[in-house]
Amino acid sequence: MAPVFVVQQHDATTRHFDLRLEVDGVLRSWAVPKGLSSDPAERRLALEVEDHMRGWGDFEGRISSGYGKGRVIVWDRGTYVNATTGDDDAPVDIAGALDAGHAVVELHGEKLRGAWVLRRWKDGPKPKWLVFKRRDEHAERDRDLVAELPRSVVSGRTIDEL
Ligand code: MN
Repeated sequence: MAPVFVVQQHDATTRHFDLRLEVDGVLRSWAVPKGLSSDPAERRLALEVEDHMRGWGDFEGRISSGYGKGRVIVWDRGTYVNATTGDDDAPVDIAGALDAGHAVVELHGEKLRGAWVLRRWKDGPKPKWLVFKRRDEHAERDRDLVAELPRSVVSGRTIDEL
């Protein structure tokens, strides 16, 4: 079965998106303040956060207290294909790619389609990454997916309507 990805919009202390990729049974996760862009020139900051349990990707609703308190919608979801290759063009498994700080994932979501690059930019206890669209037939310069398609793919609601 293909591994899943999910992008949840999360209205916590600050509103952001959480990109999650299923890797070895958990969801590797990044908080992406501005969300993903279909424009290859738009490099979006992605802050690595702790892994989440596989089932968390289905969550939509309110977190009533504690860490992450606030509202969550499933902004997009689907499956992904690891398209990472090494210097010799040989495939690199996704866990190894993320360890090395460079991964290419082809997303098959309802909103997000095509390949995105995840590149670790600053190491440290809370690594910072950049995520950006790879130039392919799904790249689009003149669209803002976050603004155009704000609704949950599960409930059809916006985060403000939740
Ligand atoms: Mn979050």
